[in-house]
Amino acid sequence: MPILGAHMSIAGGYYKAVDAARACECDCVQVFTKNNNQWRAKPITDDDVRLFREALERTGVVAPLSHASYLINLAACEEIQRRKAIEGYVVEIERAAQLGIPGVVLHPGSPKGEQTDGDGIANIATALDEVHERTCDNIAAGAPVVTLLENTAGQGRNLGWRFEQLAAIRTAVNDPDRVGVCFDTCHAFAAGYAMETEEQYQQTLSKFDATVGLEHLRAFHLNDSKKPLGSRVDRHEHIGEGEMGLEPFRHLVNDERFAKTPMYLETAKEKRHGEEMDAVNLRTLRALIRSA
Ligand SMILES: [Zn+2]
Repeated sequence: MPILGAHMSIAGGYYKAVDAARACECDCVQVFTKNNNQWRAKPITDDDVRLFREALERTGVVAPLSHASYLINLAACEEIQRRKAIEGYVVEIERAAQLGIPGVVLHPGSPKGEQTDGDGIANIATALDEVHERTCDNIAAGAPVVTLLENTAGQGRNLGWRFEQLAAIRTAVNDPDRVGVCFDTCHAFAAGYAMETEEQYQQTLSKFDATVGLEHLRAFHLNDSKKPLGSRVDRHEHIGEGEMGLEPFRHLVNDERFAKTPMYLETAKEKRHGEEMDAVNLRTLRALIRSA
């Protein structure tokens, strides 16, 4: 059975995200450990940690995952921006470790001005090296916290929309064991990777395997797309209600290779007929699972 969950708000306390996840029948939960649009963050207290871990224990929600702030751009080369991004990302790893969260999802970054994609990739790799070295004793679940590079839709100059770019970052870092990938279905589709027919799905995953390697695919973001295949525009839609339709998700939730890979919704928080859409989307996904 796939491990299905969602991103949840930490407003009011980290444990609230876990309780909200349980209320929507999530198996797993993703959180921001701080406001995702600000550099500043309140320190995490021992009580925050205790309540969060107790909530996981009590609810049985597994595979907590952190998503880094959108402000962090490790591709930046301008010194002040670059220091800010590196320091900001160190904090993200430290906060994840404090909460016992073993991985942080990171958007790789965007080159600026004269910088080439290659420059951007090299900057990301050296920035990750510094961050990972400085946080090597930030342990969660028995190992240093890992970075999960997220594939992007390729909007603007965002790197990571081609699997080759994710692979290039991974191979350029000193410690590739600290780097995995979080595969966002909407972003992959917007970037031009088709997954509708069985053949297209297998082809897309073969491309991922040949570049990054499926063994490094550590999490999924399950989102349908408001925009068409190859549009390079990132707009999430409820499962089965966008341009992707249900078929890609049917392939994914029935793929034995990902039976232990947590999958998180990042679709709009809203209600339909009084019910949270996360619950609706999870029901849609579970209905796609073929019984053995
Ligand atoms: Zn995502």
